[in-house]
Amino acid sequence: MAAIEMRNIVKEYGDGFKAVNDVSLDIADGEFMILVGPSGCGKSTLLRMIVGLEDITSGDMVIGGNRVNEKAPRDRNLSMVFQNYALYPHLTVFENIAFPLRLQKGLAEEDIRRRVQDAADMLELNEHLERKPANLSGGQRQRVAMGRAIVREVNAFLFDEPLSNLDAKLRGQMRTEISRMQRRLGTTTVYVTHDQTEAMTLGDRVAVLRRGFLQQVASPRELYEQPVNMFVAGFIGSPPMNFLPAVVAGDRLKLPFLEIDVPAAAAGRVTDGQLLLAGLRPDHFEDAGLLDDVKRQRGALFRARVDVTEWLGDAQYAYIPFEAGDEVTKQLAELAAELDSEALRTQLVVKIDAMSRLRENQEAQFWADTRRMHLFDPRTGENITRDESAAAELAQLEQEKLQERMA
Ligand code: ATP
Repeated sequence: MAAIEMRNIVKEYGDGFKAVNDVSLDIADGEFMILVGPSGCGKSTLLRMIVGLEDITSGDMVIGGNRVNEKAPRDRNLSMVFQNYALYPHLTVFENIAFPLRLQKGLAEEDIRRRVQDAADMLELNEHLERKPANLSGGQRQRVAMGRAIVREVNAFLFDEPLSNLDAKLRGQMRTEISRMQRRLGTTTVYVTHDQTEAMTLGDRVAVLRRGFLQQVASPRELYEQPVNMFVAGFIGSPPMNFLPAVVAGDRLKLPFLEIDVPAAAAGRVTDGQLLLAGLRPDHFEDAGLLDDVKRQRGALFRARVDVTEWLGDAQYAYIPFEAGDEVTKQLAELAAELDSEALRTQLVVKIDAMSRLRENQEAQFWADTRRMHLFDPRTGENITRDESAAAELAQLEQEKLQERMA
């Protein structure tokens, strides 16, 4: 086990394209770190640089205190699990798992048997040890690939989208298994995914990448509650955060449907007439008829017409179209190139109680938890209402949890 430190890592491909831009990231010994971001953001490239499958253009890659930039993959003592399993078809499950141990030379057969057995126990592969990969299900093949990774004592496990070939139910199940296995072994883990559910549920911390740049590294909870910018705010959470145009009018803020005081966190940071984007997550709303007393004390009420509802069993989504007004629309259009398309949507998605009797094409009263709203500068994407002390508290909590686990 070892810590992984990345210092100003750059990857420039032969054609001059920079896939990874000045990324510095510290992964603690025993930590489960997720690399997440949309397709092409550079997460796989970064993982491949850790493992040594890709040259590093500049910067330092340090594993267990040693700079490994020039070290061959086999000398870095890491285990990698790929999306396509990469099993040997002619070998049994047992021999596939034993493979890295046989390469180590000098290990007694008895020792190999015991270690393969331990890995198979952990991954519930005991009944299948004599089978060939062709006779296994996708989930079982992925378990064999993981068995092969955990059978050796390594500095770190590296996972490249290991669950993306599996169906949704199996993915959910394997997620818990990976979590349990990582907790039990306490091995530093770096896990690449584009699936934000995996990112939120698996990792101690999540590093969000966009176009080769690191955006934020934080616990899932901090990313969700205190995103540094619009990109992170919009990428984490499903359905994504709503971005509503908000115009400053003196000490008030005018949004579609709503008018509220400029939040204290933004005071002094905004000017009269300024256009901002207000971020409110779908779960920051409720059908006003179903509010409990605690919620009624805070937030704001508004009336709106829903055009589509989706009933999910435990909740429902309601879609509310809105118009931003000509002037605001014009300003947003000018910013379009810098904004993510999410920000230019003209519908609000709200998540409300399954008990709601709300009907399509009817006006209804809603409640918005405006105290949890974030305000973004549409020019820079910066979250101007991020609560640094709340964020620091969440980071501290995460660190304590990791320390407890590693003790
Ligand atoms: P995905 O989820 O689609 O795998 P990713 O975030 O893992 O995406 P990478 O595979 O790391 O992205 O690629 C990052 C960027 O680098 C992409 O824009 C890709 O087109 C580019 N890229 C990858 N390999 C090369 C190469 N050999 N030469 C030039 N550009 C490359």
